[in-house]
Amino acid sequence: MHITGLALTTLNLPMRQPFVTALGRKRVSRNLLVTVQLSDGSTGTGEASASLAWPDETQLAMGQALRQVMPKLIGAEIRAYRRLSDKAWEIAGRHPTAVAALECALLDAYTRSRGISLWKWFGGKRRSVTTSLTLSAWPPRTAARAARRGWTQGFRQLKVKVTGKNLDQDIQRLLAIHRATPKATLLVDGNQGFTAKEAVRFCHALRQHHLPVILLEQPVPRADWEGLEQVEKEGGIPVAADESARSVSDARRLIRQRAVSVINVKLAKCGLFGALEIIRQAKASRTRLMIGCMAESAIGLSPSVALACGTGAFDFADLDSHLLVISPPCRPGFSTRGATLCCC
Ligand SMILES: [Mg+2]
Repeated sequence: MHITGLALTTLNLPMRQPFVTALGRKRVSRNLLVTVQLSDGSTGTGEASASLAWPDETQLAMGQALRQVMPKLIGAEIRAYRRLSDKAWEIAGRHPTAVAALECALLDAYTRSRGISLWKWFGGKRRSVTTSLTLSAWPPRTAARAARRGWTQGFRQLKVKVTGKNLDQDIQRLLAIHRATPKATLLVDGNQGFTAKEAVRFCHALRQHHLPVILLEQPVPRADWEGLEQVEKEGGIPVAADESARSVSDARRLIRQRAVSVINVKLAKCGLFGALEIIRQAKASRTRLMIGCMAESAIGLSPSVALACGTGAFDFADLDSHLLVISPPCRPGFSTRGATLCCC
């Protein structure tokens, strides 16, 4: 079976509520859909999502990067998806999100043409995964209302964005959420908003208020690896690297140095095969893993859900982007019931 066509489509997804993190605010996610067509009529899709964390990954830049690769893939045998993916990383690796989407489209097309579900291709460990629900850095009352709604829908783990700009505001938001959903566990995402010293102080405040925070994600700027390690050692709350772990080599270094307790793996950062490599390394060193997402629709989230279920390798799942954006009508590779995502 060979590739007969590749296409790019822009996908502008309005956010259901403004998405607010330490890095800014967005109302629309400007994404790009990659479609691969095969000679047997099968198609595969992947989605590249813009992110506040990676301002270089615009629709325009990602499209330009992929247009350099796509003509080289026409006529290629789809069974060689791994070699084709390597070629794409070689040519357009400066735009990991774009290449990752192409990689997803290739593997999706391959597995569809073979009649295999993607989650089974990844190992078929389990069919469903439970996700947390993300709450933006909203005012406390808004955040508490969203938390309560989420709890009613079945979410037991809430991932709360904090900004690091005003410690009291961040704490007030978390307290309001905790009062609204006292039995929910909290993951907190700093999105690089703190210095290491501030983050350690913040951790102490979280503990003084007895907030059930089980993980603090990326408190410090992504290049501040020492800071990340300091917060892990002195804060008393396990730290996850997200923006600091953008590539397989970043993850490898963080794992080797035992700098953090958890690595947040996102296909948009390292692609599918990169994610499999990080899983292998993390297993060997017993580093825990989280799987995250950008602002993909259900189409773009499908390979992440398949990876999480198929490998069973993740201790934390943050795969709720399809609930945060208004997705176009589609048939994703999973169904959603409350916090449970079940592969089809
Ligand atoms: Mg994050």
